[in-house]
Amino acid sequence: MRCEDMAERLTDLMEGRLDPDEEAAALAHLAGCVHCETVLADTRDAVQLAQDHGRVELADEDRARMLDSIVGQLAAPRDAPSADR
Ligand SMILES: [Zn+2]
Repeated sequence: MRCEDMAERLTDLMEGRLDPDEEAAALAHLAGCVHCETVLADTRDAVQLAQDHGRVELADEDRARMLDSIVGQLAAPRDAPSADR
């Protein structure tokens, strides 16, 4: 699996909608790809922060838009992935 494939599956992976073998392939890629692992962690953080701090349920379209923007990072890797912590 390539990072592009991972990007397509990221949302489904987070929502548990992948087939078992697709999920296994995605997790295997994540285990060996720091970039995708970082993007997934950022995505989870962003969703969690929005829910914790805003005390609001994210509308599906809002969450999809946020995920789209984060998933877009897969196509444009950041220079310093861990500099903001
Ligand atoms: Zn990757």
